[in-house]
Amino acid sequence: MADYYGVLGISRDASQEDIKKAYRKNALKHHPDRNPGDAEAERKFKQISEAYEVLSDENKRRIYDQYGADALKAGASGASGGGPGFSSMEEALRTFMGAFGSGGAGGESIFDSIFGFESDGGDSNARQGASKKMTMDLSFEEAVKGIEKEIAITNLVTCSKCHGLGAASEKGIKTCSRCQGRGQIHQSRGFFSMTTTCPQCGGQGQTITDPCTECQGQGQVKQKQKVDVKIPPGVDTGMRLRMSGHGDAGVGGGPPGDLYISINVKPHEVFQRQGDDVRIDLPISFSEAALGCKKELPSPHGHTCRIQIVEGSQSGKVMRVRGEGIPNVHGQGKGDLLIHLIVETPVSLSDKQKDLLRSFAELEKEHNSPRKRGFLDKVKAFFA
Ligand SMILES: [Zn+2]
Ligand SMILES: [Zn+2]
Repeated sequence: MADYYGVLGISRDASQEDIKKAYRKNALKHHPDRNPGDAEAERKFKQISEAYEVLSDENKRRIYDQYGADALKAGASGASGGGPGFSSMEEALRTFMGAFGSGGAGGESIFDSIFGFESDGGDSNARQGASKKMTMDLSFEEAVKGIEKEIAITNLVTCSKCHGLGAASEKGIKTCSRCQGRGQIHQSRGFFSMTTTCPQCGGQGQTITDPCTECQGQGQVKQKQKVDVKIPPGVDTGMRLRMSGHGDAGVGGGPPGDLYISINVKPHEVFQRQGDDVRIDLPISFSEAALGCKKELPSPHGHTCRIQIVEGSQSGKVMRVRGEGIPNVHGQGKGDLLIHLIVETPVSLSDKQKDLLRSFAELEKEHNSPRKRGFLDKVKAFFA
């Protein structure tokens, strides 16, 4: 003989609320969606649904308490499936749906918890608007100094005629007949069952019988919008700015999406960026490198930097001018300007120039070329 209280794990004096709670807990555990193909779970699910069917009905509960489950079966007198002792999963699922599936606020949340959806506790129809992405091309100078730019973007905005309703009036909205406003439908195949988005209303739970003429029932219309974007100094390629709330408008009171702007800084002819530092290659002549000289060159900020190149400077030497690089985008100081010297070997020499260089070569000493001497010493040591 079935022990309905034992099946649900409650005492004989349990309140209706206790019964519902116990059923909810057990039904979730043994629900066929959670245990596909598990015959034991199927049996349990039928059993607890049967227990709930009886105990949740005060009249049936009284009969059960006095005479036991068999009395209820007898009382069903011919109405097949009407009494306890569920023969099919459909009946058990119907009980389940009857307990949680319709009308009550618990209906949605119990399905949400079965299918792993996160419930936000608010209006289940509220959705955040879509976020947008775009790329912004900047010149090197714009990235160094920062800039304000006005951009145009097409967003979905709430229809001003129907205020997002989608219908010409409140009367033009009907609760969806297919899903009774739940937005989801529950289908059973044997003891498999699944919940899917209602195809009739697309999950909205309602259908529009008299659509707004402005938005054709969408509740939103496309609109070109202008957005002022403030680009801070120091941005670089690959950085992304988030413009909060500048995406599509939300639906059903949901928040708007965001606009993400990816930065692409075009390369500069003279300056190369290295993080917050800026590299510039400075070609100098052989005689300038040998004798030393003064040079003026521009900084990324448009300043004139005067530098002293000492005599005997080698190609590849790096000179650092502090603070003449790019401002850190997070406000942490400035990078440096790195001047790379490139000593250029003279070409297209005249006869006179060649004669002078030959005379110079005759006077050249080993100590004039320390690297060359060092290299030759190592080679000699290798062959020795
Ligand atoms: Zn409208
Ligand atoms: Zn529907």
